[in-house]
Amino acid sequence: MSIAHHFGSETRVTIRRAGEPDAQGKCIVYWMQRAQRAVDNPALDKAIEIANALRLPVVVFFGLHPHYPNANERHYQFLVEGLQETRERCQKRNVAFALRPYPNHDLIKFCDEVKPALVIGDENPMREPESWRRSATEKLRVPFWTIDADVIVPTKLFEKEEYAARTIRPKIHRVWDEYLKPLANPVAEVSWLDSKEQLPPQELIDVTATLAALPLNRSAAPVKSFRGGTAAGLQTLQSFIDERLAHYDTARNLPHLRGTSDMSPYLHFGHVGPHTIALAVRESNAPSSAKDAFIEEMIVRREIAINYVARNAQYDTLAGCHAWARKSLDEHRDDPREHLYSLKQFEQAETHDPLWNAAQLEMVKRGKMHGYLRMYWAKKILEWTPSPEDAFAIAVELNDRYELDGRDPNGYTGIAWAIGAKHDRPWAPARKIFGMIRFMAASGCARKFDVNAYISMVKQLP
Ligand code: FAD
Repeated sequence: MSIAHHFGSETRVTIRRAGEPDAQGKCIVYWMQRAQRAVDNPALDKAIEIANALRLPVVVFFGLHPHYPNANERHYQFLVEGLQETRERCQKRNVAFALRPYPNHDLIKFCDEVKPALVIGDENPMREPESWRRSATEKLRVPFWTIDADVIVPTKLFEKEEYAARTIRPKIHRVWDEYLKPLANPVAEVSWLDSKEQLPPQELIDVTATLAALPLNRSAAPVKSFRGGTAAGLQTLQSFIDERLAHYDTARNLPHLRGTSDMSPYLHFGHVGPHTIALAVRESNAPSSAKDAFIEEMIVRREIAINYVARNAQYDTLAGCHAWARKSLDEHRDDPREHLYSLKQFEQAETHDPLWNAAQLEMVKRGKMHGYLRMYWAKKILEWTPSPEDAFAIAVELNDRYELDGRDPNGYTGIAWAIGAKHDRPWAPARKIFGMIRFMAASGCARKFDVNAYISMVKQLP
């Protein structure tokens, strides 16, 4: 029976380069990119299952590339903190972990060295990592499969761009029981240590030395508020379940209470996967209204964002938004703007609005702005810049630079929602500058939550 028939029939698997495993191959390589964890990782599980069937060891390859678009020292610090732990957790599953920092980050060279029978990768809808996988598909001489490890419902099930949450929600609900199940987390039966072949180095990962040696963009300093890694992510999850989940449905939009999970950086870097989070929330004793509200955000909203980025090549500009929204914004292009700010003024939180400035500072200092204020923040950038295109570009630049969870499908979709009504509807009557795009006002925020308490909380951030 062919390997594809036996192990490749799940919807989560994409066979990019077909064929039988190389009979001379000495291992299975798992090229870890997005799912940077050794717990509840369907891609690692698949690599181990195949390796066990072929009686081969598994080695994880992580190529540390310092020029990932828009990534800076803040992001790399969190990433490398996570790798250190992932390497240890891989070893507990009898799997070797090879970190190859730039300039030795090339997958093909690594494969020439370790001679795999088959290569497994994970998936990410963003254009750069997808282009790296396409290039690997052309260059590898052994079968190459990728596993959609960081979603509950495989992206492949939604072939077209979804119009709104209401269109994808019933489709997700119909199948999620099939996909939201505990993962097997198998252990590799053959270890590298048993192998006579040359082993990939197993040295400890020194975070400071690794970061110092890379030619990184250092435009945003690391933050102390979040530590990367699966253990820190699981601790954050547990404190959310114990202390905040029960009130999530009523408190999540109250920034002064900070009642959300804080899981977005861990989800972005794949340090904790969506299965772990969704199952822990489902199994908790919180009221079902709170659990349902959380699952709606973490599965429906997150996965429609992934659908948008996977299916719309213009996801990071206004051009990705619907024609009605662009037309409406265009009709208000020449409306007078009461306030106009430059990128630098926005970056330095120098607007006339204390709430906006506090939100910007929360992002710069803590590395994570509250979700409710992200909507207000982006909509005000639209109001205070010369054009919607400028607003989009400024929002992307600041979001990607300072948010630990930035450079993520959720970020591009959130900005497209706020500025270009992606997944939203027209709001009549048309207003100046915004046209039919939903508007948000400081007075609305003041009615909803304690703005002064939020501003003082941000002032106290180190
Ligand atoms: P929780 O409320 O605890 O939610 C749990 C998880 O559900 C989140 O971690 C996230 O994965 C998902 N989720 C929650 N809200 C949304 C949403 N509106 N859309 C999609 N998924 C959601 N999210 C990012 O991960 N990275 C970004 O760069 C980002 N930028 C944004 C920019 C703008 C302008 C807007 C409007 C939203 C943005 N979001 C972004 C979405 C959302 O604000 C964050 O995911 C959320 O605030 C993260 O905090 P949390 O984990 O505590 O959220």
